[in-house]
Amino acid sequence: MPQLNRRRALLGLGALVSLGVSSALRAASSAAAPVFAPGAVIRTLFKDYAPAELAGGATLFHEHLSLGTDFMDRFRAASDAVAEANGIPLAQRPAGPPAAPPGPDPMRSAALMADELRAAQRDGIACLVDAGLDGAGVDLAFIREAAKLAGLPVVKGAGFYTMPFYPKHIERASVDELAAELVRQADDYPAGAFGEIGSWDEITATERKVFRAVGKAHLATNLPVFTHTGIPGKSALEQLDILEDAGVDPRRVAIGHLGNLEDRSVYVHKVICRRGGYVGFDRQGSGRDAPVVPLVMALIDAGFADHVLISGDANRGYASPVTRFLPMLKAAGASDEVLHRIMVDNPRRFLAFVPKRKRMHG
Ligand SMILES: [Zn+2]
Repeated sequence: MPQLNRRRALLGLGALVSLGVSSALRAASSAAAPVFAPGAVIRTLFKDYAPAELAGGATLFHEHLSLGTDFMDRFRAASDAVAEANGIPLAQRPAGPPAAPPGPDPMRSAALMADELRAAQRDGIACLVDAGLDGAGVDLAFIREAAKLAGLPVVKGAGFYTMPFYPKHIERASVDELAAELVRQADDYPAGAFGEIGSWDEITATERKVFRAVGKAHLATNLPVFTHTGIPGKSALEQLDILEDAGVDPRRVAIGHLGNLEDRSVYVHKVICRRGGYVGFDRQGSGRDAPVVPLVMALIDAGFADHVLISGDANRGYASPVTRFLPMLKAAGASDEVLHRIMVDNPRRFLAFVPKRKRMHG
C-alpha cells in the first residue's frame, strides 16, 4: 500500500512540472526533515501510517468528501445571520465553501468521488482529512467507500461542528458526557483528529462547552484539533484560549479559516504562531486566493512557515490548493523548500500523534 501510494504520488508530481511546483512537493533535504516522536502515527480510516510513509506528497488537512444536501443552505443562513448582526452589507459578505458545479455531484456517487480522489493523487496529494461531522449531514459509509475505491489515505475528523449544526442532545449534555461521546466517535470511525470544531464570531455558551469537551477528549486520546472560525475569524484567539484552558498544548491545535481574516499585519495569525499553534489557510485554490497570498508571505517572512497549513475546504478538484494556490505563493517569492515544508511536512507534524487508546477498527 505505501509503495503504491508513493508511486502514485510520484506520477502526480510529473503532472505538476508545468506548474513549477513539482519540485516543491519533491524537494526534501534530509537536514530539514521533520522529527516525529517514537510511536507517532497518522491515523487514517483503514490503517495507522508512520508519518514517513506519507512524505511522498501533500496532505490536505481540511477537506470534505461528504456534506448533506442542505448543508450549503444552512451554512449560508448561519453566515448571513452573523454578517447581519455585524452590519456587513450584503455585497461585502465573504463567500462560504464553493457551491457544487453543475452536472453529477461526486458527493452523491462514491465511484465519481473516487475519480476525484484519484485525480488529486495524480496531482500530488498523498493524504487528506475529512472535516465533516455528525449533524452536518456527513455520510461515513460513503467516505469509507470512496477512500477504499481510490486507495487514498483519508483521515476522518470527529466532533461537533457549530451551534446551527449540533445534534439536538448537545444543548443539555454535560462536558463530561460530551467528552465521552467524542472519545467513542474517535474509537468508532476511527478518527485521526478532532475537527472541524467551530463557532461563528461570538462563541455561544454551548459552543464553549463543546470546545471544553474536545479539550478533555484530546487529553484522553491525544488526537490533534482543528477548528472553524466564523468569518472573519473574530473568535480565533478565544478558541485557542478555551482549548488551552482545557489542557491542550497549542502546538496540537490548528485554528481554521484564517485566510478570511484579511489583516496585512497578520496580528492574530502571529499570536497563534507565537503560542505554538498552526494557522489554517484552508479555503485556498478556489480562485479567490489573491488577498490570502500576502498573509501567507507575511508569516513566512516573520519566520513562521512551520505554523502554516493550507487546504481547500472541498474545492472541486481537491488538488487545487497545490495546483492553483502554490504557484501564486511561488510567484510571490516562496521557495520550494518552504512550500515543501508547508504542504508535506507541516500537516504530517500536525496530524502525527502517539495514541493513548488502541486502534479499535479498520
Ligand atoms: Zn470545512
